[in-house]
Amino acid sequence: MLVLKFGGTSVGDAEAIAQVAQIIKDTKENDPNVVVVTSAMGGVTNILIKAASAAADGDEQPYRDARSDLLLKHQIVAGQLLEDGVERATYGRMIDERLRSFERLCHSIHVLGELTVRGMDVVSGLGERMAAPLLAAVLRANGVDAEWVDAAEIIVTDDTFGGAAPLLEQTCARSNTRLRSLLEQGKIPIVTGFVGATENGVATTLGRGGSDYSAAILASCLDSTELQIWTDVDGVLTTDPRIVPEARTLPQLSYAEAAELAYFGAKVLHPKSILPAVKAAVPIRIANTFNPKGPTTLVLQDTAENGSVKAISVIKRLSLINVEGKGMIGVPGIAARTFKAVAEVGANVLMISQSSSEQSICFSIPEEDAPGVITTLEQELELELARHYIDRIRAMHNIVIIAIVGAGMRGTPGIAGRIFNALGEAQINVIALAQGSSEVNISLIVDGQDADEAVRKIHAAFFPN
Ligand code: ADP
Ligand code: ASP
Ligand code: MG
Repeated sequence: MLVLKFGGTSVGDAEAIAQVAQIIKDTKENDPNVVVVTSAMGGVTNILIKAASAAADGDEQPYRDARSDLLLKHQIVAGQLLEDGVERATYGRMIDERLRSFERLCHSIHVLGELTVRGMDVVSGLGERMAAPLLAAVLRANGVDAEWVDAAEIIVTDDTFGGAAPLLEQTCARSNTRLRSLLEQGKIPIVTGFVGATENGVATTLGRGGSDYSAAILASCLDSTELQIWTDVDGVLTTDPRIVPEARTLPQLSYAEAAELAYFGAKVLHPKSILPAVKAAVPIRIANTFNPKGPTTLVLQDTAENGSVKAISVIKRLSLINVEGKGMIGVPGIAARTFKAVAEVGANVLMISQSSSEQSICFSIPEEDAPGVITTLEQELELELARHYIDRIRAMHNIVIIAIVGAGMRGTPGIAGRIFNALGEAQINVIALAQGSSEVNISLIVDGQDADEAVRKIHAAFFPN
């Protein structure tokens, strides 16, 4: 059993989709049980979300444009890859109907002047529901029996719209029944990534970039031998190739390393996709759709480590919140109340550091959460502020976290020294730092303007050419 997931660029145009069909066909020759998960065509989810948001803000043009653009985008591929007139017409009718319902939905959003997260899940999940039937039809055109499956039928989630959590028992039961019956008929199921539904059938999504997560959930339910994430780079590299073009493929990573990298911004793997894989002990292979025979990365159980730093990742557009004051020393509970207030806003704290003197607590959160967090903190700590136990609550915007990851860093002296040397030589100021007790990761905060340069310098220090 293999679960293969193809990302947005992998199904971005006719040429890419033809390539994907070939990969699936080749895989099926060696392994009869193949389940495929697909993302929406590249860029489609963004178009849908933008159009619906514009409708809520009173602008109708974007959704009208989106409807015709998306119709064309999918029809071009169908025109190029589906020779059979019946297949082409059936698919054409289906996307036409989907895009009509998208237009009706956006019209209602416009009339109401309001877009709920729940409504957004219906809109944003449309891209996958147009891509999966297309890929299935292209496979059939290539002589491979395939049938598309709406994940709303098999991935059962809670109702946390915009980032729902799977209910694993129901999901595993349903996916085993539905997908195994297709496999027994010799068919390859082509499942929509990213989407699911509540027990009552209300549409949900697993969060942006969530198709990796969908695939990991199915791989663990089906006890897959391997989960393959097919994307547009040669596996997980030593850093984001958009920042350092000469970054190299890492042949092997442990789950813990992959989790740290994913959590700190290595977009190649969705952070939530690690847990289901770990639980079911399914290895994850990351491969390049456009270079299928090229190098890949295999993520699996922790292995004996010898190296040091494995990779560097960066997470951008953050704010650093600083709660500071000499009166905080020895006052119990300030940290607890600070984070309780942050939790009330629902902000995700990415990194915390507290100086040992207890004069300040600082933590980083996504930039968009900063205003809400500051207001809530000022209310929670009103008394301490009035009494000057706390001098101020400050926010610093446009900061980034750079994470230097590698299990081999454990017990290897001098790593931090090399990092700071590299940054010092480039005169890059480190605003704050934290080292997790796991020692798999050293993360530091620098100004957004220094981000790419800092990544390049650290990369050069550990991976010289
Ligand atoms: P997909 O659409 O296939 O899900 P994504 O765009 O979500 O692909 O993820 C792939 C991208 O992740 C790459 O194009 C690359 O720019 C980015 N990336 C960031 N960090 C890394 C890394 N360490 N290794 C590989 N790719 C990375
Ligand atoms: N199409 C979704 C997104 O753009 C999910 C994914 O591609 O993984 O976020
Ligand atoms: Mg992705």
